[in-house]
Amino acid sequence: MDILTHILSGFAVGTALAGRSTGTWRTKTSIILFSGLGGALPDIDAISMWSKFDMTFGRLFGLSHSGKVIYSAKFWYSHHGFMHSLMAALIFTLVLGCLFWLFSKRERNSSLIGVFCKYKLLLIGFVSGFVIHLLQDMITPASSWGGVRLFFPHEIYIGGTGDIWWWNNYNLFLVVVGVILVNICLLLIFRKDKVRVRKFTASVFLIGCLCFAWQIMRIGYNFNGKNYTDCELKSKEIQREILGEKIYRKMEKLDNFLIIYF
Ligand SMILES: [Zn+2]
Repeated sequence: MDILTHILSGFAVGTALAGRSTGTWRTKTSIILFSGLGGALPDIDAISMWSKFDMTFGRLFGLSHSGKVIYSAKFWYSHHGFMHSLMAALIFTLVLGCLFWLFSKRERNSSLIGVFCKYKLLLIGFVSGFVIHLLQDMITPASSWGGVRLFFPHEIYIGGTGDIWWWNNYNLFLVVVGVILVNICLLLIFRKDKVRVRKFTASVFLIGCLCFAWQIMRIGYNFNGKNYTDCELKSKEIQREILGEKIYRKMEKLDNFLIIYF
């Protein structure tokens, strides 16, 4: 799935968690931003596709395969390998908590567990964004991996169902953006009503998840085992049907405007 929807999905879960926070706007914003970071991080393993990878990381670690080969292979550091596992989600969350403790003079006076408790919503947001990314990748085509290595170090790859295409899932993108916008409005409107804001933002996130699942079902096509160009065309044709000509055109315009794969 595209990186933008991954990051925004992290933001979406972050808005629901920010609704549970009794802290300042700075705290709430941090929860949302770190949830987005969790949503982005797994795809750092796509770095092997960077044009200078062989000259830098390849040389540094004495890798015998080119970055392009590594990307599609099943090494632990390949795409959809370790970085797309629950173990990575846990390790990076623990590392993040330790960094908060290590780099904040104020926090150094507290115990490590105390720091984890203090930043629990932010850390839950981070790990949730990370795990949502893994789930979203599991419904993309199997490709050379056959899913994601969810239970690393086990070698089994899970997912690769091909329920959605890699790109242009405009309907899913719109659901995620909708959750973020509605929840930000709720955070502003009910900022003094802690009970309501918590309930409403959580409910909107839950409804968003159901809408996301419903939109996947609406796609109703298996993208596995088919030609890339055909899949790209078919995916766009389905999007046009789901969204209607007017919204589809606007989304296509946004797609063409963005320099990243979307
Ligand atoms: Zn990914």
